[in-house]
Amino acid sequence: MAILVTGGAGYIGSHTCINLLNAGYEIVVVDNFSNSKPEVIERIKQISRKNFLFYQVDLLDEVAVENIFRENDISAVIHFAGFKAVGESVNIPLSYYHNNITSTLILCEIMKKYGVKKMVFSSSATVYGDPEKCPIPENSTLSTTNPYGSTKLMIEQILRDLGRSDHDWSIALLRYFNPIGAHESGLIGEDPHGIPNNLLPYISKVAAGDLPFLNIFGDDYDTKDGTGVRDYIHVVDLSMGHIRALEKILTTKGVEAYNLGTGKGYSVLEVIKAFEKVSGQRIHFKVSSRRPGDIATCYADIRKAKNELNWQASKTIEDMCQDTWNFSINNIKV
Ligand code: NAD
Ligand code: UDP
Repeated sequence: MAILVTGGAGYIGSHTCINLLNAGYEIVVVDNFSNSKPEVIERIKQISRKNFLFYQVDLLDEVAVENIFRENDISAVIHFAGFKAVGESVNIPLSYYHNNITSTLILCEIMKKYGVKKMVFSSSATVYGDPEKCPIPENSTLSTTNPYGSTKLMIEQILRDLGRSDHDWSIALLRYFNPIGAHESGLIGEDPHGIPNNLLPYISKVAAGDLPFLNIFGDDYDTKDGTGVRDYIHVVDLSMGHIRALEKILTTKGVEAYNLGTGKGYSVLEVIKAFEKVSGQRIHFKVSSRRPGDIATCYADIRKAKNELNWQASKTIEDMCQDTWNFSINNIKV
């Protein structure tokens, strides 16, 4: 019996593959490398010292996906594959809806056909839109502000409907807050193409001297120091959350959403300070206007994941910055 990991060559998927292999699971990985590189697969093998089957397949290719299920004894799927850039999704919405939603429909149809009714799905805190309160509990009102977020919310709805239509399904909808950091080996991490959109990859490039300064998007929010507050979570902690969620769905039925965050909010200025402390580098910044669509504050209510998945993040903001920097200075670009 194997766990199928879609998008396993990506940032969160690759860290989760390592934890799955370390926990003794057999895995089968599928990715089309639209946002990752083949070297990552070798690095997962190098770090874990374990082997696994890899398929370079696009999830939109129904025949190729079915072939994976025919050739392997799959017991559950961890579904990471999808496009994830908010700004890009505004410019090319049809690609986002097609890649994220159609591929999930294809995957679910084939899972149903092969009697595989267990899935861990990568959702996002973006489904909370501009939250009414923080910490945000899972039963908050859901809304989205961009096509990427809409794909996540729509897929959650599709999976809930699927669970309602057939009570044999067991699905965990994992709503990630802000994943950052990298594997302690420095061999895998987040390596976005071009100029990064997200805070940590951007700070990393400023620290490394590749970019002159960080633009802080607004210092007039109603927060502790006026800059945006987010719930940053170490990608290794996050990947452990998937192991706990997998253990849960393997033994239960139904569809449940879980927040995966630390429950703590850090401002942009606090993150800069933590990064400067661990890297010894000065992070030059300028305050610019607010980024359209940004919210002031976002952090998780983590009680449900703690109580029902027996999972809690353990790494500090310094650990997260340290591992991000470590990956960056190793300069092992993959
Ligand atoms: P990533 O882009 O690094 O990984 C996604 C992987 O899926 C990539 O390797 C890509 O090549 C692959 N992929 C995309 N479309 C595919 C397709 N049609 N067929 C096969 N492979 C395909 O992203 P990530 O940061 O690891 O995120 C993983 C998941 O978590 C995504 O669904 C993302 O939306 C979600 N998520 C990410 C964040 C974040 O900040 N990183 C936050 C919330 C949710
Ligand atoms: N941010 C910033 N400058 C940047 C990138 C991000 O000031 O170059 C801020 C952003 O306004 C937000 C926080 O950093 O308050 C986290 O942004 P990110 O894009 O990483 O995550 P998200 O907005 O999706 O939560």
